[in-house]
Amino acid sequence: MSESAVETHCPYCALQCGMGLRRVAGAEPVEVVERAGFPVNLGALCGKGATAAAVLRPGVRLTSPLVRSAGGELRQASWAQALDRIGDALTSTARTHGRDAVGVFGGGGLTNEKAYLLGKFARVVLGTSTIDYNGRFCMSSAAAAGTRAFGVDRGLPFPLADVPRAGCVVLVGGNPAETMPPFVRYLRELRENGGRLIVVDPRRTRTAESADLYLAPRPGTDLALALGLLHLVVADGRTDKRFIAERTTGWEETRAAAMAHWPEHVEAVTGVPLPQLRRAAALFCDATSAMVLTARGPEQHAKGTDTVSAWINLCLATGNAGRPYAGYGCLTGQGNGQGGREHGQKADQLPGYRKLDDPAARAHVAAVWGVDPAALPGPGRSAYELLDALGQEVHSLLVMGSNPAVSAPRSARVADRLRALDFLAVCDVVLSETAALADVVLPVTQWAEETGTLTNLEGRVILRRKAVDPPEGVRSDLEVLHRLARRLGHPDGFPSDPEEVFAELRRASAGGTADYAGISYRRIAAEDGVFWPCPSPGHPGTPRLFLERFGTEDGRARFTPVQHRPAAEEPDAEFPLRLTTGRVLSQYQSGAQTRRVPALNSAAPGPYVELHPQLAERLGVREGEPVAVVSRRGRTVSPARVSGAIRPDTVFMPFHWPGERGANAHTNPALDPVSRMPEFKVCAVRLERA
Ligand code: SF4
Repeated sequence: MSESAVETHCPYCALQCGMGLRRVAGAEPVEVVERAGFPVNLGALCGKGATAAAVLRPGVRLTSPLVRSAGGELRQASWAQALDRIGDALTSTARTHGRDAVGVFGGGGLTNEKAYLLGKFARVVLGTSTIDYNGRFCMSSAAAAGTRAFGVDRGLPFPLADVPRAGCVVLVGGNPAETMPPFVRYLRELRENGGRLIVVDPRRTRTAESADLYLAPRPGTDLALALGLLHLVVADGRTDKRFIAERTTGWEETRAAAMAHWPEHVEAVTGVPLPQLRRAAALFCDATSAMVLTARGPEQHAKGTDTVSAWINLCLATGNAGRPYAGYGCLTGQGNGQGGREHGQKADQLPGYRKLDDPAARAHVAAVWGVDPAALPGPGRSAYELLDALGQEVHSLLVMGSNPAVSAPRSARVADRLRALDFLAVCDVVLSETAALADVVLPVTQWAEETGTLTNLEGRVILRRKAVDPPEGVRSDLEVLHRLARRLGHPDGFPSDPEEVFAELRRASAGGTADYAGISYRRIAAEDGVFWPCPSPGHPGTPRLFLERFGTEDGRARFTPVQHRPAAEEPDAEFPLRLTTGRVLSQYQSGAQTRRVPALNSAAPGPYVELHPQLAERLGVREGEPVAVVSRRGRTVSPARVSGAIRPDTVFMPFHWPGERGANAHTNPALDPVSRMPEFKVCAVRLERA
């Protein structure tokens, strides 16, 4: 890498690829250069990372606070005016409606420092329990299932470098060839080493094309599929009896639940032919070691937690956990999807992955914060429940690093709820669809303009370094919290320097599940990241969890007996098709950044409806013609993309666009009872020629 380049990381997904940023005299203040030494991506970047400097252009982003005038327009204002307006509004709401009527909504892209300080701000300054974040919509089902099985939720309990050394990998509902292309190297090396790749997805994606075996279940049936595979493993006598006896609990109930799911029934429910089920079970059991990796496909359902538990049960029953090159992992999506769920912006959580309803956890964190434990609020509403309460029980909202008007389920209703608020403040880099509805918008620094830590999908804490000064008029999220806290009577305890915040985070997390006590900026820089838990400066960090014991009280992994159940909304005569949603190569999440990058926007300028040729013929729709998708929640019109890669009973839409083009206009907010994850991945629709 060029000597003058700053070593940092991509602003987008959870792989957190290393990159260099070098100052240049051009339209963008810096250019992206290769950082070959970072082990996760070895210099490789996808198009999103390679073009990331475009979002630093002055014309793309906000550079002044905006305050809504009496006439209803957003007008430029000073920072003092904007912060006074926020402080007054939050105080007035708390006085009139109570503290829980003030809400905070964070994001899985916020640095660890921001997520930590935002959670502290909500509990200590606002005294509200009403805080959650968009990571609830990302990997919360995998997190819940991982916690109940292993006692610890870390996306991957092993480094990515272990993936090519497995004998078999089952990738369920993930398409890294589009969502995180540098990850594909690990799957390619797996196959070069003789390992087998099984891909489970209702669409034959680019990732599925490279698999040894591809299974295409109906959306919403991954739980039945996993149960069917476990049934076959048991029936064939391929369980690992010694591992089950020595390192697990709860097997008998789980075995009985799986044996109730006959393979022929599973074939009928999933649409996966029985010979393919048998071959998958054989490949999994014949391997010297096996992994299951899930992504949003099986997780974003009203039964997402049980679905992930079913795949974990398969790993445990075959002894594929707690040993090298084997186990269950979740491919986290957002840039700080892992760290963002560890340090207190989640409704039920305190820093270090502590629980808000645990008296010992409250006492520890309250001591670090210098407050009475009894003053800390209890657990609050989950993300969708919080958004659904806007304008009713929740009257003012502060949003940081999120665009729920596009990314939340049933997005038109969420936009209505945002409009129904007495007061909305949004901190963002650009005027997102959510910011456009706000009473006050604060322009904040982004990615290359600030320093902070993130935790990638491996549990590796990395350091994003500042490479360029922000434009005049822009402040960091940490400074926003610092200034607001002062205005609201807390002159101390909310530093704006990220390293100072990280030092406090280390103390608050000490002794917790996600223990960062031994991690420092200096160590991260010297070691290409440090894996948590790392309880002391002399501790090496923990790349591989569970080799000796699992994180449960007795050290054993817990089986969870689960049963298949239908989706919250199954097809019927009026809505005979299943809609599933996902991402495309050249856009990221709600598109707030990537839709503003010319190269990405021309590659993926808008949504489309992917449908099978048989379905297209039945409807009389040809490639590129407008087609309406109609659900119980909305109607959108997009061009048809006719493809044999999708099941004839299923249609697909990418979700990166807002309003009448937005796939999330249709998504069903039915919630998982454990994780409170909405059912993004399946709902019933019909198609009409438009
Ligand atoms: Fe960025 Fe993810 Fe692409 Fe890597 S894979 S360059 S982290 S968007």
